[in-house]
Amino acid sequence: MTQSSLPRILPFAGSPLDRCENLRRDEQAMKALEQSDRALFLPLWRGQIFMMADGTPALVQGAALKTLSIADPGPVLLGTEGKNAQPWFAFCLTQDDAGADNFPLTGLGEWTELRSAAPLLKAADLAIVGRAAALLGWHKRHRFCANCGVVTIAAEGGIKRECEDCGTEHFPRTDPVVIMLAVRGDQCLMGRQAGWPENTYSALAGFVEQGESLEEACAREVGEEAGVTIGAVRYCLSQPWPFPSSLMIGLIAQALSEDITLDDELEDARWFSRDDVRAMLNDTHEYYKAPTAFSAANHLLQEWVNEGA
Ligand SMILES: [Zn+2]
Repeated sequence: MTQSSLPRILPFAGSPLDRCENLRRDEQAMKALEQSDRALFLPLWRGQIFMMADGTPALVQGAALKTLSIADPGPVLLGTEGKNAQPWFAFCLTQDDAGADNFPLTGLGEWTELRSAAPLLKAADLAIVGRAAALLGWHKRHRFCANCGVVTIAAEGGIKRECEDCGTEHFPRTDPVVIMLAVRGDQCLMGRQAGWPENTYSALAGFVEQGESLEEACAREVGEEAGVTIGAVRYCLSQPWPFPSSLMIGLIAQALSEDITLDDELEDARWFSRDDVRAMLNDTHEYYKAPTAFSAANHLLQEWVNEGA
């Protein structure tokens, strides 16, 4: 909890859209939303968004869609915004269409990787494009029925896929990832992987495995990666992470040991004081750097530093 006692809303969360769960089975209502003059359509191409020169994600209107090659499953409904229920859709261009002369916004901006665009976007836009990228990425990777192998079709505005052959419904999946700060007194444990930006350290993290609680996943990952023993674990925050479709679950864990034994995953791990972390977050540390401001790890560090203030 922050000092205001309100939950921290992390980047990629806090979408202003109503997800329209109660409209999605109403085919006429869905058609009316898609055909509305007020509908906005967010294009994606190879997981990238089209950033306009003013730093906003490009949106096109329905009429422009007729000139474009749109990948399966066509436009998906993200939701509606505001009192006048402005519809928001997202779609993927086919792999070879984005550079084509018929893309209506060519010359007004450029295709940008979501990770590069994330620090530049407003919070509401980031939440919308993050969800769009996660949802359309899921459609791209899950065209075939996992039960019987035939091609499935999208339903209810793209919130699921259905197999007409065996009747199985498939829903977008979210993979839980624990990201944890192991703490011992006034110190916290962070590591770095080879290939990260120089001198950047971050909280340890890993996927939750089947048959495992969050606390168990936390203890296993810290044990595997750094050889540190974990005691009590408490929940701190969470963040949808669309690379490709995780939920980051931020934990603060009491470390019961200090000696570090690295596995192959980390290039280094070490203990940092609150003063170190505060300076890293302020980008004033003479040597070490904090993880990017839009990551769960950065916010976890902020929470821990604030607790000691
Ligand atoms: Zn099937």
